[in-house]
Amino acid sequence: MNTICGHSIEDYMALVERFHGHPAPGLLAGGFMVDLAKKNLPDGEFFDALCETKVCLPDAIQILTPCTVGNGWLKIVDTGRFALALFEKYTGEGVRVHLDAGRLGPYPEYESWFFRRRPKREQDRDRLMREIAEAGAGVMGVNRVRVDAGLVGKNSGGKTEPCPGCGEAYPVETGARCGACAGLPLYARP
Ligand SMILES: [Zn+2]
Repeated sequence: MNTICGHSIEDYMALVERFHGHPAPGLLAGGFMVDLAKKNLPDGEFFDALCETKVCLPDAIQILTPCTVGNGWLKIVDTGRFALALFEKYTGEGVRVHLDAGRLGPYPEYESWFFRRRPKREQDRDRLMREIAEAGAGVMGVNRVRVDAGLVGKNSGGKTEPCPGCGEAYPVETGARCGACAGLPLYARP
């Protein structure tokens, strides 16, 4: 029986439900990806995480590793690929795991879910979850990588000052004004 970072699939999916709100198929697949990445890292190494999608996968990382968006050890760079990397904090050396669509042939429901070929209501949910569990890490590709230096280390934001536009503090190294006053669209204007 496949396990995920020492959890049974059932126990892991209970954690998923609590953290993510519902037992999403992407988190089951993502659990196997984190498990595989961890197995390919040297023991006891301090690692950071890089996630290449905003959808589902970041939550598998946050459930199964100490890396979160909030503590800065998980960075998300949205390439749109269902892939993640765990890497040594200071050197950037690590492993990248991706879902290898070319291996999904024996798992038709999994394949159709991954390529979003059918609307959700037409999915055979039980079969999908069974196929993901059965496939486990067997449909994942793993490679050694060195993460770009710009994404390695340094999580603190530097010195902050009140913004000349709104008066709220922001990190001065990001520019002459805070992001909102510099024009990032956030809220409708009153
Ligand atoms: Zn401002």
